[in-house]
Amino acid sequence: SSRASTVLSALDIPTTPTELPGVYDGQWKGSGDVLESICPTTGEVLARVKSASPEELSVALEKAREAYKEFRLIPAPRRGELVRQLREALAAKRDELGALVSLEMGKIKTEGVGEVQEFVDICDYAVGLSRMMNGRVVSSERPGHTILEVPNPLGIVAVLSAFNFPVAVYGWNLSISMAAGNATIWKPSPSTPLCSIAVTKIVASVLEKNGLPGAIAGLVTGGKDIGEALVEDRDVEMVSFTGSEAVGRKVGKVVQSRFGKTLLELGGNNASIIMPDADLSLAVPAVFFGSVGTAGQRCTSTRRLYLHRSIAPEFLSRLQGLYGTIRAGDPLATDTLLGPLHTRGALGIYSSAIDQLKAADAEILTGGSRYDEAPLDQGNFVRPTIAIPKTLDPTHEMWATERFAPVLYAAEFDELEQAIEWNNAVPQGLSSSLWTRDLRNVGKWIGPAGSDAGIVNVNVGTSGAEIGAAFGGNKSTGWGRESGGDAWKQYVRWSACTLNFSDEAPLAQGVSFDA
Ligand code: NAD
Repeated sequence: SSRASTVLSALDIPTTPTELPGVYDGQWKGSGDVLESICPTTGEVLARVKSASPEELSVALEKAREAYKEFRLIPAPRRGELVRQLREALAAKRDELGALVSLEMGKIKTEGVGEVQEFVDICDYAVGLSRMMNGRVVSSERPGHTILEVPNPLGIVAVLSAFNFPVAVYGWNLSISMAAGNATIWKPSPSTPLCSIAVTKIVASVLEKNGLPGAIAGLVTGGKDIGEALVEDRDVEMVSFTGSEAVGRKVGKVVQSRFGKTLLELGGNNASIIMPDADLSLAVPAVFFGSVGTAGQRCTSTRRLYLHRSIAPEFLSRLQGLYGTIRAGDPLATDTLLGPLHTRGALGIYSSAIDQLKAADAEILTGGSRYDEAPLDQGNFVRPTIAIPKTLDPTHEMWATERFAPVLYAAEFDELEQAIEWNNAVPQGLSSSLWTRDLRNVGKWIGPAGSDAGIVNVNVGTSGAEIGAAFGGNKSTGWGRESGGDAWKQYVRWSACTLNFSDEAPLAQGVSFDA
């Protein structure tokens, strides 16, 4: 369609129905299975992409190893200068790349552009970091000795990413991995190959301009098989995996069994708790964005809503009012609030959630069905849903499972302690949000008996984090932390280097071993 070709040609992606090479290791190639990029809005095939064959993956890893050997010798601040150039190149294509995210993934344009902005932001952060990735000088107990804690690059970092953030997740990893001096190899979601090709082209152009090997930032598109092969490979020092709990559990075990490093960013099942003193004019729109934004396909989407009994009816009626304003349509159109689910398969996730609710006699306040009128019937459009399940058991499968669709489960509580217990009773621990103006509630919420999630917000929704703070979740979300904070420390290997400047060679702890 002309809609698609406008977006693709702005990023130099051929629009004729040829098969695009989906592997980059310094050169573009691809002779594995053909992946189809399908537009979730119209159902049209946007492109066919030739993914990596097992041999191409091996070659890409060899090239990455060679590239690493060169790259690790470049001083960190100079690597930061490369990241700065990457930032500029990305910012120059912010709008075009954002449009591609909307076209291929299905999120609305402002969120697509926001995702590219996040990549730009984390590049800024990594540029700064490149002059601050410092070790420490430790005072030794032995006279004339000093201990240095020294960070050095790790080697090869593999990034396996999910469909829902087809640009930003790679950005969080690449920018910091690059500043740290690693070669990075990306296996994106098989359903968003065009985003990964467009990003890799931009990164490759920066490396090329600086006369550096392209395999510093390689790309291997592919599905489960290529993902498995990459994760199993002993040549990959760290696997940074973003995706579902089910796949993350397998990936974690495989990498652990070969004693590699992992960084896991898995599913979320995030709750918002609304206290009686909450400012509803802020809380209601925040829950609306949290549950409906990205059509409920963010790892931080609001999936559970715990309302204090005294404000529950008013809150729900105002929230339903906002649900009534949802404009579903082409995510590229500026007035659209709700795009499609990403795949046909996701329709099944949505409808099975609805079927389960109905079978359990839940009250469905709004939603519960697909949009089946033209033109929305061409895409994967579903009505965002608010449901009140009969069961309050927080460990019941209905409450305890992440369903990657816009379905919000609501319940009433009487005491904050009860709501916190429910918040914490699920396996996942990514994001959480409390709405209150009472400082005592805030103290409980962020303290030792409070939320056990990695993201614990107050008067801020569950969704939408900034890159300056560590991002990630606890428990079955995988304990990984990306961006901000001290995340860079995972992308390096640490050495404790004891230096002896003295004329003696004493043992530590006063141990004597005289012959
Ligand atoms: P997914 O687990 O299906 O796929 C993630 C990646 O793993 C893809 O690249 C996929 O090809 C690959 N893969 C599949 N099987 C594999 C295997 N056996 N070995 C190695 N790799 C394999 O996830 P998805 O459906 O693309 O994404 C949605 C999920 O991602 C949700 O659960 C969401 O919460 C999660 N997510 C988490 C975060 C976070 O930061 N915590 C961010 C975004 C998405």
